[in-house]
Amino acid sequence: ALRARMEERLLSARFRYINQQLYTSSSQEAAQLFQNDPEAFQIYHRGFAQQVGRWPENPVHRIVRYLRQRPASLVVADFGCGDCKIANSIRNKVHSFDLVALSPLVTVCDMAKVPLAAESVDVAVFCLALMGTNLQEILEEANRVLKQGGTLMMAEVASRFEDLRAFVNAMSHLGFKSVSK
Ligand code: SAH
Repeated sequence: ALRARMEERLLSARFRYINQQLYTSSSQEAAQLFQNDPEAFQIYHRGFAQQVGRWPENPVHRIVRYLRQRPASLVVADFGCGDCKIANSIRNKVHSFDLVALSPLVTVCDMAKVPLAAESVDVAVFCLALMGTNLQEILEEANRVLKQGGTLMMAEVASRFEDLRAFVNAMSHLGFKSVSK
């Protein structure tokens, strides 16, 4: 029992470490990290699922509820899709992008450069996935693939924002108008 408890602690520590790495490195470095150490991805996702499981609400469920209320004809891009909860929960065409494929639905790529044509998507989603120090490049990529008047949905933990107003302002410079917060 002691050994199992210690192993559990080590895995949690490893998850926090990888999470921190993802938030403090560029998306190219993150891609490199998982390429060099595929086990890191498994550990990360196990820890992620455990953490979100303790929250009163998983934001991905709210995003799914919203998408279900909108036409199934809308094309969705899920940036940093993890285990593809969105693609698995709605009838829409969903492009699911991540650094490693946890499911056959995933297109493996860096979300700063996705294999989609410009203006081909109605809704772009970042659910707990706005990682990487090259945020601007990533959001510009979302802007490129979104149709005019398309929707960007973002879910992040509040503590990640140093200044929410400055963030919303920066987003408007990137071409996004805040509709709901
Ligand atoms: N959106 C999912 C998973 C969130 S975990 C959900 O809410 O359940 C964050 C995910 O973003 C991880 O799977 C991680 O691999 C992915 N990610 C981080 N940086 C990325 C990048 N540069 N390109 C693609 N995916 C990335």
